[in-house]
Amino acid sequence: MPGPNGFQRSSLRIQPCGCLLVLTRSLDRIVQCSANAEYFLQVPAETLLDQSPEGVFGARVLARIRRELAEDDVLSGPVSIRKENKGRQIRLQVNAFRSGAWVVVEIEPLTGLGTRRMTGTVNRWLGKLANARNPDDLMNILVDGVRDLVRFDRVVVAHFDEQGHGVFLAESKRKGVSPLRGQRFSASAYPLAKRSKMTRHQVRSIPDLEAGLVPVLVSGGMTKEQLAAVDASGTVLRAPSRRQTAYLNYFQAQALLSIAIVGPSGLWGLVTCTSQKPVPLAPTLRDAARTLVLMATQRLFLLKSRMEAQFLQRVHKSRDFLAADITVGLSPARMLEKYAPDWLGLFRASGMAYANSGDIAALGEVPPAASLDQLVSRLNAEQQGRSPWVSASLKEEPLARGLELGAACGLLAVPLPGERVTSWFMVFRGEHGRGIYWEGRPEVDILTSAPGEEETFRKAFGSWLEATEGSSESWKRVERLAAVDLAEDMALLASISEITRLNELLKTERAALAQANEQLSHAASHDSLTGLWNRYRTEYELDRELAKARRHGLPFSVLLLDVDHFKNINDSWGHAAGDEVLREVARKAADVLRQEDHLGRWGGEEFVILATGAGRGDGVALAERVRQAVAEVAVPGVETVITASIGVATWRPEDKRKSIIQRADRAMYAAKKGGRNRVETDEGL
Ligand code: GH3
Ligand code: MG
Ligand code: MG
Repeated sequence: MPGPNGFQRSSLRIQPCGCLLVLTRSLDRIVQCSANAEYFLQVPAETLLDQSPEGVFGARVLARIRRELAEDDVLSGPVSIRKENKGRQIRLQVNAFRSGAWVVVEIEPLTGLGTRRMTGTVNRWLGKLANARNPDDLMNILVDGVRDLVRFDRVVVAHFDEQGHGVFLAESKRKGVSPLRGQRFSASAYPLAKRSKMTRHQVRSIPDLEAGLVPVLVSGGMTKEQLAAVDASGTVLRAPSRRQTAYLNYFQAQALLSIAIVGPSGLWGLVTCTSQKPVPLAPTLRDAARTLVLMATQRLFLLKSRMEAQFLQRVHKSRDFLAADITVGLSPARMLEKYAPDWLGLFRASGMAYANSGDIAALGEVPPAASLDQLVSRLNAEQQGRSPWVSASLKEEPLARGLELGAACGLLAVPLPGERVTSWFMVFRGEHGRGIYWEGRPEVDILTSAPGEEETFRKAFGSWLEATEGSSESWKRVERLAAVDLAEDMALLASISEITRLNELLKTERAALAQANEQLSHAASHDSLTGLWNRYRTEYELDRELAKARRHGLPFSVLLLDVDHFKNINDSWGHAAGDEVLREVARKAADVLRQEDHLGRWGGEEFVILATGAGRGDGVALAERVRQAVAEVAVPGVETVITASIGVATWRPEDKRKSIIQRADRAMYAAKKGGRNRVETDEGL
């Protein structure tokens, strides 16, 4: 609404350390001007409205601003102008950026520090940053460098993790200021919207929280809509927000400078400078601090990618060792025993498990066996693709519902290559902050000693433990990749070990089979009661004797032995006693045979002796010896004399198996008829 002098007030208010102008896009008219313009420009704000800015900047500077804003949304660097104030030259720094249809111009006094001295200081710190060998050193150098430039009481670097939880990594402070280093805070201290805003407006400066704010006057010709379209949130002069006021109150500070550390995936951290007293800060110093932060950011991400490379290198070294074990055929359990202690350190993990279709080998802190089993079968049921399954907070996962997890909070589970997924390499992490890691290793616990009264920040700093309870550090991409590589090697090693095991098994199976075969072939040719040749084998050997005799003309005899009245033995002393008698008969008969004679069981209580090379006389002599030997058979409990009748048949050139056996049989019958316990021959048969 137009005021009495043809201007209105915008709702915008700025800090008094500079002057703000809003120009039309074509830079031909000033449409807004902060009420403190006279202090810097020696002209009352009201008289500047609706005027050309040429009077303020001069034709040359205005032309330069116009040229640069035609190419980009912001000036490539600040421009300086001079003004005369009561006969004294003052220098001002001008910055400009486009905001929609408007151009916002910031004008700040250039005071204090000689530029040459400052350049020296900046270069010295840049050199130190460039030589930092690890992120810890880098952050320590950064806070010292920034504090050396801006002279605030305290400079800290906060780092935000993927969940937005923060930790103060490094700190430089004046003597007597309480330490913040190691302090952690939950994501509620810097909500997501705030963090993403900081990636856009990376510098925040509040030289004096209590300086009071300056209104901004607006040309009467500007419509409400046009006013609303001016976005001045990008200016360093913007007024402190309620949050920032609360933050400063919490830390009992009156001045703030914060500079964002923006990495490839958004806001990585924040350099925050605070002071108990106001700090009038020359814009050149502020920009120099910004330069240090930018340099440190570059170096940080370089060092981080080097660390990742080193990590991968260590993993690959481990893989080389594994490869050397391939010939050994190490089992997964032995593999874990050998390597997991190393790997636990490498992955900052507390436990590892290797689950292979039902078998689970584990090391370190892992959930109890029954839970592990369940986890694996749920993973098997759930798993779609081949990518690792990760969680930093197992207890929140449906997959782990109802399971006892022990100290395990995070899980990186890699499915192992195979036809179907049934095998997993699992890496478990304990609770946040228990791991040792340069990004946020708490060295002092000052949660309880944090100063201030402000609720929001007290809560944010106090609630970190609560917010991160039961969750682990999140799994980094490089860690996931490395775990996949390791798992692949382990799977290969495990399958080789499995093949080795199966081969061993096959070997013993084969031995068992050979033995079974031998037993079978023995059974096929031997009598189970006496261990003698059975009838088939005896017939086979008889055929060989016949062939031999025919070829060489060597005679032989067949003795057929039948135990006398054997039925009586069975009937009187039982079948078992009968069996024992048969075994004894076999043993006694075998005792008196010659080397070249063979004894077989013909069936029942009948035995056959093949007497190689024996003519009738030798055959009869042998039969006699056998008959007498049988008479000596004694079986406990069998109270009778055992006798046998023996028929002797001697080979004739025309003999077949059947004919020679028939004659032996007849001779044996003759012995029976003749009164038993005697020997008869086939002579005349
Ligand atoms: P002989 O003097 O006329 O030969 O009379 P024997 O009783 O010996 O003859 P017989 O053929 O009448 O009876 C033979 C018996 O042998 C019949 C059968 O029950 C018994 N026998 C056959 N094989 C076995 C065996 O393996 N174990 C036992 N315990 N008895 C058997
Ligand atoms: Mg018989
Ligand atoms: Mg008999």
